[in-house]
Formats: sequence, C-alpha cells, structure tokens
Amino acid sequence: MIRAYKFLMRPTVGQAQALSEMLRDHCSLYNGALQERRDAYRHVSKTGIKYGMQSAQLKEIRAFDPERQGRWSFSSQQATLRRLDKAFAGFFRRVKSGETPGYPRFRGVNWFDAVDFPKDGDGCRWDSTSHDRVTRVRFQGVGHVKVNRHRPVVGRVKTVSVKREGRKWFVVLTAEQGEPELLPATGSVVGIDVGIANFLADSNGEFVPNPRHGRRAAAKLEAAQQALSRCKRRSNRRRKAVQRVADLHRKVRCQRLDHAHKTALDLVRQHDFIAHEDLKIRNMVKAPAPKPDPGRPGVFLPNGAAAKAGLNKSINDAGWGVFLTILTSKAESAGREVIAVDPRNTSRTCPRPECGYVAAKNRPNQDTFHCVACGHTAHADTVGATNVLRAGLVRRNARQG
Ligand SMILES: [Zn+2]
Repeated sequence: MIRAYKFLMRPTVGQAQALSEMLRDHCSLYNGALQERRDAYRHVSKTGIKYGMQSAQLKEIRAFDPERQGRWSFSSQQATLRRLDKAFAGFFRRVKSGETPGYPRFRGVNWFDAVDFPKDGDGCRWDSTSHDRVTRVRFQGVGHVKVNRHRPVVGRVKTVSVKREGRKWFVVLTAEQGEPELLPATGSVVGIDVGIANFLADSNGEFVPNPRHGRRAAAKLEAAQQALSRCKRRSNRRRKAVQRVADLHRKVRCQRLDHAHKTALDLVRQHDFIAHEDLKIRNMVKAPAPKPDPGRPGVFLPNGAAAKAGLNKSINDAGWGVFLTILTSKAESAGREVIAVDPRNTSRTCPRPECGYVAAKNRPNQDTFHCVACGHTAHADTVGATNVLRAGLVRRNARQG
C-alpha cells in the first residue's frame, strides 16, 4: 500500500532562494528539452525524440553548465525529462484517437512548481537529521530544510517531491507500507465512552482508569512551572527551570502516548467493531454556557473557575483526540471497523431496549444513571458506552443495507 504525505517546509531565506533556483533550472531544462522535440517534430523528417535520447545528454548538459544544471540532482533532472515524456505520450495518444489536443507547451518559470526525486537517498534525504527533534529533509544544492511534520510517516519513504504553492514550500512523500496484518474475527462489538474520572468506560461494564503517572507528572509539572515563575529573567537558574519544564512536558507526552497505544491495541485485539462518540460534536454540545450579566444585556460575566475547567477540558480533549487517531489507524491496519456516533443524549437515555426513556433526570450525578421510568441503575459511563454502541450498530446497518 502506497501512502502520500504532504508537509510544510520552513526553509531559511537562503534555502528558499536555492529552492527557487532549483525550480528555475528544472524549468529551463524542461523547456530546452521541449524545444528540441518541437524542432525535430517540425523538421521534414518528422524525427521523434525519445526520453532515452534526452536523458543521455544530461551528463553533457551538466558538465557544460556546472553553476546551474550541474548543481542539482541528476535523478531529479531525469524525473523532469520523464515528465515531459509523459506529456508527449498523452499528446500522441490523443492525436491517434482522432482528437486535436494542444501541443505540449513551454512553462513560464512561475508555472513550474514541482521537482520530483524518484528515490529517497538519491539527491535528497528524508529525515536527514534523525538524531534531532526537528525533522529535516536534505536536498542536493539546498541543504537540510526544516519540516513541519505534523503527523508520523509510517513505512519506508520511496519518493520525495518539492512543491511550491504561492509563497509556501511543501515536501510531498510517498511511503510504502506493509500489507495490513488482519486480525482474526472475534465476533465481539463494543462501545466506548471517554471521560475524566476514567480514561474510558466500555459497554461491557469495564473501565480503563486514567494513568496514575499522568497525575503525578502533572503535579511535578505544576511545581516546576511555579519554580520557573520565581526565577529572575535571564538568570542561569531560569535557563535550567525552562529546561526542566520542557523535559517534564515531553515526559508527560510520551507517557500519554504510550498509554493510548496500549489501550487502543487492547480494544482492537478484542473487538471487530468499536463505536465511540464523535468528539467534534461532543465539544459543541457540551461547551459550557456563558453566564449573562444580569445588569448589562449582551455582556457576559467573567468566570475564573470556568476558565480553569476549560483548560483541563482542552488538555483532556487533546489526549482523547490522539487516542482516537491511534485507535482508528490501528483498527484500519488490522481490518477492524471504527465508527464515530453523534453523542447527543447518550448519557440521558435508558439503555434497556424495552424502556429507552430519555431524560436529564436519569442522571442524578456524574457517576450514576438511574432511570426514572423503569428504575434501571448502572454506572453512567457504562450507560453512555452502551448507547454509543447501539447508535454505532444502527449506523453500520444503515450503511450496509
Ligand atoms: Zn428505563
């Protein structure tokens, strides 16, 4: 399976200049090769020029123009000539089928926006500074360019391309991933409810507690941040305190990621089908309502407690978002199905099929569900997960039917 990735690059001023020159020189190579084909085509002999003939001239072209053509990767230049060859192949195919296509055109330097490197390691190197925390990609003639790698690259990188869009630079990768290793079917389905008291509850009444180390690390982090705020500006102590906060942040992130991976793997091994709440909808539904100022219509009261709760919530949301992303990708590669469902009323609906009564009163407090119609009692998060599973199965059946 081939997967493509596109990341924003953050070149220095000098590197951006070099990237522009790389496009410019590949553009003139493209146009030069097009000119040659054009002249040959118009000649009475109607000579056809093939990719192989043009590629064979590259060595000479590079030797003749070492400042410009000789500066760039041989393989990327071959890729540009191949791109022209493709344009011609399309042109002739359409002529043959009786159409009147436009002859391949010269490209203005502002209309030539991509250079391809057919093989990682040949004229370019993805993750060229892998020992560093910052990801970089190296291009021949440009150097190590910083990359905003917003998600991990899975599999072996095959091709690398530079792309210009407006004033931004991107690197586009294709990576080869092993065939997914499908897990044997278990016949089991599950709904999950992510929460604050427990990391998650499932529809079988099981709970995954929040990782303990998370709370301990959070306390340490808070202490480190307080210590930092007491340091004098530009002092040596301050520099060390900044480092300590950064280290703790990284540690918390790693532990949380590790926990998310383990939890997701457990779920994917045990169940064929996993339903969870759609967090985007949930955030919209459960956003705290602002308190209007009774004295001034249209003005809202400041609320410190709400702000703090909001912060905790956003940290939790980030954690759940990461977890669900990991869960979805693990499920995909194992051949499992994951469905996000609308979370509205999942915590207020009685899960007994013969009842199904919906009321806010069904949930007297955070942990307890007590149906006012039939008396059914259970942990509120288990009820939520059960309703999520039911909604997920309805969606799946609708999709299949
Ligand atoms: Zn009920």
